[in-house]
Amino acid sequence: MKAARFYKEGDPLRIEDVEIPKIGSREVLVKVKACGVTPSNIPYRKMIPALEKVPVTYGHQIAGTIAEVGSDVTGINKGNRVFVEYYVGCGQCPMCRSGRDYICPDFRVIGKTWGDGGFAEYVRVPVNNIFPLPDEISFEEGALIADPIGVGFHAARRAGVQPNNSVAIFGGGGAVGIATVQCAKLAGADPVIAIDAFEHKLKIAKKVGADEIVNSSEGDPVEKIKSLTGDKGVDIAIDACGGMGSAGELGGLTYEQSMKSTRWGGRTVIIGCSWETFTCEALRFCLEEFEVLGSHGVPKSDLPTIVSLIVNKKIQVKPIISHFFSLDEINHALDVLHRGLGDPFKIIIRP
Ligand SMILES: [Zn+2]
Repeated sequence: MKAARFYKEGDPLRIEDVEIPKIGSREVLVKVKACGVTPSNIPYRKMIPALEKVPVTYGHQIAGTIAEVGSDVTGINKGNRVFVEYYVGCGQCPMCRSGRDYICPDFRVIGKTWGDGGFAEYVRVPVNNIFPLPDEISFEEGALIADPIGVGFHAARRAGVQPNNSVAIFGGGGAVGIATVQCAKLAGADPVIAIDAFEHKLKIAKKVGADEIVNSSEGDPVEKIKSLTGDKGVDIAIDACGGMGSAGELGGLTYEQSMKSTRWGGRTVIIGCSWETFTCEALRFCLEEFEVLGSHGVPKSDLPTIVSLIVNKKIQVKPIISHFFSLDEINHALDVLHRGLGDPFKIIIRP
C-alpha cells in the first residue's frame, strides 16, 4: 500500500510502497477515507511528545471503513464506517483506569509514537480507539471529531462554562478555537469573544456563533476585551494558540494575554501546546482566587455525545474544512499549511 513516511526534520515526507499492517487480536484495520493535516505534521516542528523511532507514517485525524477485524473483536464488522480517537494509554495507571488515558504518563499517539497513522491507504488501530460514524456525518467531518472538535468540547467542559459567562477564546479562529466557540455557546456563554490574528478565520468564528471578534494584529487584545466587559475582564479565558497553531509563533505571549484578560475570581484554561513558559504574579492566585487549568485531548466517553451534537447540527464541522488533497499531494498540502497559501484552514487528505 501507499504511505507518506516521515524520516527527518526538515525533509519532505516520502511516499513509499509498504506492507499493509498486520493486526493483533484486539485491533482492527481501517481503510482510510479521510485524514486531517495538523501543524504537528509539518516536518519542521519540535514534536510533543518526541518521536522514538523513524520512519513513521503521520496522521492522527482519521476516518474510514473497517477492512479487517482481529480475532477477539466483537460488534464491529467489515465495511462499518468509523472514526479514530488517537490516544493509547498504558491501561494500568490511575489515569487510564479513570477514563483519562489522554493524560496517561505513558500515553502514545497513533500516527506518531504508538504506530503508523492515516497518511496511508490502511491504518492499524486498537479496537478501543474505534467509534461508529453515522451516515449523516461525512468521512471528512468524521476525521475531525476527536481532534479538533473533541479537544474544544473538552476545553469548554474543563473551563466549567455556565450560562451567561463571558468567555474569551484566544486562537478562537483556529480549528480547536472554532470548536471551543461553539461548545461555549452551547453551554450558554454570553458573550463569546473570539481573538485571532487572521481575518478569514475570525469570519468563520463569527459564522459559528462568536458574539464578538477581535483581530489581535490590530492592537492589544487585552485592552479590547476589557473594553467589551466594562473594564472587568472575562469570567473565563481560554488559550487555544500555544506554540503549535497558526498563531503559535506568539507562544508565551497569548498565555499571558489570556491570564490578563481574566477577571477577579475567574479562570484561564490552556489548551494550546507549546514549550513556551509564562509568568504571572503569585498575588493574583491568593488575592483574586484566580485559577489556571490545563486541558488536553478528550475523554473517549464524551465522543458519542459529540457525535450526536454534530448529527443534530448543534456543532458544525464543515466550515473549518478548506482544502482537499490526495496522498500523492501530501507535501504540497503541508506547504500550503506551513506557508498559509490560499487562507488554509483544515486540510484533508483523501488516500
Ligand atoms: Zn496509563
